[in-house]
This record gives sequence, C-alpha cells and structure tokens, in this order.
Amino acid sequence: MSEQVIPSLHTNANTAEVLAIRDLSIHYSVREGFRKKALKAVNGIDLSINAGECLGLVGESGCGKSTLASAIMGLTPITSGSVHVAGQDVPTAVKNDPLAQARNVQMVFQDPFASLNPRRTVRDALAAPLRLHGLKDNIEIEARVIEMLAKVGMKPEAADRKPHEFSGGQRQRICIARALIVKPKLLVCDEPVSALDVSIRAQIINLLLELKDELGIALLMISHDLGVVEHMSDRIAVMYLGRIVEEGVWSDIFTSPLHPYTQALIASIPDPLAPTMRQRRMQGEAPSPLNPPPGCAFNPRCPSASDKCREGDIPSFTNSAGDQFHRARCHLLEQG
Ligand code: SF4
Repeated sequence: MSEQVIPSLHTNANTAEVLAIRDLSIHYSVREGFRKKALKAVNGIDLSINAGECLGLVGESGCGKSTLASAIMGLTPITSGSVHVAGQDVPTAVKNDPLAQARNVQMVFQDPFASLNPRRTVRDALAAPLRLHGLKDNIEIEARVIEMLAKVGMKPEAADRKPHEFSGGQRQRICIARALIVKPKLLVCDEPVSALDVSIRAQIINLLLELKDELGIALLMISHDLGVVEHMSDRIAVMYLGRIVEEGVWSDIFTSPLHPYTQALIASIPDPLAPTMRQRRMQGEAPSPLNPPPGCAFNPRCPSASDKCREGDIPSFTNSAGDQFHRARCHLLEQG
C-alpha cells in the first residue's frame, strides 16, 4: 500500500477529460457568538470525469456535495485550487463568457416542479436556452425542441402543455431535456431521483445513462444514497465532511470497500431479499463542519478508531494491491 499518489483517473488515456478538479477548497467565514470561524465546506478535493463517463458522488446531507456542484457550475467562489470544465477555468469563464460556461455544463436538480416555471409551456422552457445562446430561426428551434423531447421519451404534443399537467417523472424528463438541449459536455445531476416515486426512479436513471452514451457527455451523479448510483456509475467517490474519503471503480467500492464510512453506507442500503444481512443504520450523527473532530473526521463514529486517528491529517492510501484507482483516507490501509 502506498501513500497518496493522486493519479489522473483516466479509465481510457484517449478519452478527453471534461471535468478536472485539483486540490479544491471552499471555506466560509461564519460568526459564532463574538468569534469568526472557518467552515470548511470542501477541503482539498481532486476529481476528474472523462467524456462518456459517469462519476457517482455519494455522502450524507451536509457533507459538501452540493457546494462542490455549485462550484462546478461557477456559482460559488473558490477559496483555493481549481475547477476546469472542457479545459476552461470555471471562475474565469463565468466572469468573461458566462454563456460559454453554460454551454459546457448544465445541471438537473432534485425537485423538477420547482425547476420549471408553472406559467410557461414545455416549448417555451426548452426554447428559452436556445434563444439565449443565439439561435433565432423559429423553425430550427421548434425542430430542436421536438427532437429533444423525443430523446427523453416524450411525444411532440407535450410541447404545448404546462408543468402541472405532467407526473413527477415526466417533469424530470423535461428538466433533463432542457439541460441537454444546449449540448453541454458535462451534466451535473444533484439528487435527480430522490423526489420521485421509487417505481419511476429506475426509468430516469436508465434515461440518463442512455443519453450519456448517445451524446458522449460526462455525467456527475450526486446522491446521498449509494444504492442510487450503484448501477450507473463507472466510478464512485465517497464524501465525508468536505473530503473525498474513498474513490474507485464501482465494482471495487461495492465488493471491497476500504473506508469504514463506505462500509457503513453499503451496510445501510435496504435489501428486500435479505433485510437482516444489510440495512444496518449508520451509527451517530455527522459532526458539524464548524467543529470537526481532530484527525480523521469520521473517528467519533468509527468502530476501528484508535488514538492515531485523532491526530493530524489522514493521507490517502491505495488498496493492498497498490491499485492507484482505488484509494481511501484511512490509517487501516497504512503499511507497517
Ligand atoms: Fe476509522 Fe481511523 Fe480509518 Fe478514520 S482513520 S476511518 S477513524 S480507522
């Protein structure tokens, strides 16, 4: 097992890197009584996604996933490090050419109803980004709207209707169509199925996967639930209190998780076929990012914690085979 060597996680050297995050930190100054404290929402994160690849980003509420997504969209100031989408430095792109940034990266949110204007038809919702990006020909706009509706499995008649006339799953299809109509290189999906009925979650997940393959986009799938990203991610990154604590290809994460937090997340996934084997509840609450415990932030909840875990920063280690693509921040992986 070797100490932290952060490789470029290219699964294919010929594939273009669409998202490149290097040593990213996002800190806020928060007043607590008479004192100001630093809230480290994101702390030293490295991530990358290639074209045609899906990265699942998983962690409990408040771990910093949405702050990270916001930084990728250029909506949150960065404290240090960098975020590049399609080779463009995001803060610079947002300042100099926000429309180009919006063409490179689009987002799908958790609540499709809140994401759509109730007074606008689906046609208006899908045509608006095309007009914003300079397309003026109404015939071409109509053709693009109908084509995009077909890609998300909806009939042309849907263009004349308003959001309240659709089910939750159909509304999420419309949001996906609106995000993809400008042909972004990266699609960020922040909990895209958690507001939907369980019965239609699989449909939306399958739709996202089909569109990823057909359009060759990079997909960042954010969820608090490992079970949601289990079957759709090429790789999975597990986040805890602002840090990536484990990263690897999905099969390694599920068959041989390295970090006790990942192991606890997997154990808490409901399994209707063997309810006693899985679905163990995570112990305790995540600490406040305003008062993180010293050392490994997971130590108050970790059954394997020792004195060593409460001192200093925990580096990232590879698994026992030295696989650079599967690594975790845990002393248990340290050699000697
Ligand atoms: Fe548990 Fe220590 Fe590993 Fe943290 S470093 S996950 S406390 S064993």
